[in-house]
This record gives sequence, structure tokens and C-alpha cells, in this order.
Amino acid sequence: MKIALFDIDGTILWSRGAGRRSMERALTGIFGTPGPAGYRYDGKTDKQIVREAMQHEGFSGAEIDSRMDAVLDRYVRELVIELAGDQHGTALLPGVAALLDAVEQHDDIVLGLLTGNLVRGAEHKLRVVGVDPGRFVVGAFGSDHEVRSELPAIARQRASVVLGRDIAAADCVIIGDTPNDVACSRPIGARAIAVATGHYDVTALAACCPEAVFADLSNTDAVLQAIIDA
Ligand SMILES: [Mg+2]
Repeated sequence: MKIALFDIDGTILWSRGAGRRSMERALTGIFGTPGPAGYRYDGKTDKQIVREAMQHEGFSGAEIDSRMDAVLDRYVRELVIELAGDQHGTALLPGVAALLDAVEQHDDIVLGLLTGNLVRGAEHKLRVVGVDPGRFVVGAFGSDHEVRSELPAIARQRASVVLGRDIAAADCVIIGDTPNDVACSRPIGARAIAVATGHYDVTALAACCPEAVFADLSNTDAVLQAIIDA
């Protein structure tokens, strides 16, 4: 039994900057600044983005902590506005629809999520591209922990509860588009499959030594086999 834990942005879907625009508006509304233009969001949890971006702007840890809930609430509201209507261009990435179906139907693979998104943001982004969040049997989110490398243990624990058996870390397979997705698997001995549909190419991802690397997720059989073999 493998637990396939999919990242969202750059892995399942591409929101064309909607998440960043929403967060920058929320940060501006609560802290008065959108954060550094060059600060990268990919591979990070939403709380980590708030903390690191505002640390760059000179806010103390206490100041950031005291406004964290407010900025995250504002972010989700901004995200809903940003993704309203049909002009935002958010789309599933190649092969994802077929792969999610195939994983769901596979007797030995459980469909799950592991994402830096808050659970509310994750569910909204998925619904916008027509994916029912309820399909994912297990999930670990940025709202569960600020540090991404803590999320695999949370996913493993939840999988063990949901499935009623002890799930080994080595049976948790993280599928993501950044070096952080691969790195977060390592502390507990989970596995990682990288996909170059975000900002990192195949060469950069291969350098992180995941169990497999794909240019995209369009070869359903090959990805399924990589999950089983991971
Ligand atoms: Mg990602």
C-alpha cells in the first residue's frame, strides 16, 4: 500500500500567480507592504511565506505572530476574489486528471495531498479546476504546520488512522514540483517523485535525488509504476 501525497501548485494545477497576488494584497492590507518582489513562494507553506517575507521587511517574530491569523484570513478572502469568474486561467496541469483517476482506482495506492496551502486555500484552488477535495483520502496542509518537513509525519499519522493500520514512512510518496517537496520527504524516510511543471526543470530536480523525475505527469502508467516502486 502506497500513500500518494500530491502537492498542489505547480504539480496538480497552475494558478498563473493568483496565489501570490492574493497573498501580496493580504500582506499589504495587514502589514502595509507586499514583501520583497524577488521572494519566492514555491515549495513554501503559506505561514512560512508570511513570516519570511515580513522578516525581510523588518517585522519582529512577535509582530508577525500577532497578525498571522488576520493575514491568512485576508489571504483566503483575496484568493476567492482572485479566482472568481472564468478569467483567472487557473488550469489542471498535463495528465493530472487522468492520473488522479488512475490513483483513485488503483487498489494499492491511496490518493492524498501534501501542500503548503492552508486547507481552505487548497480546497478552493482544487474546486476552481473541477477537482473535488473530498477525493483525497489523506491530507497534510500548510495550516497544520508552518514547516513543510513536518507535514509528511502528519500525513503518515492521518493515513494510519484513516486506513486503520500502521503506514510506514517509506510507503508515503510525495509528488511535487520543487526541491522543498523532495527535501521534506527525507527526515522521516518518505519517498519523493519530482515533476518539472513548476519553476524547476528536470535537471534541477534530479539534482535533489528524488526516487523519480518526470517532465510532466502525462504518462499515467509510468507515474503509477514510479509510485509503486518508490
Ligand atoms: Mg508546488
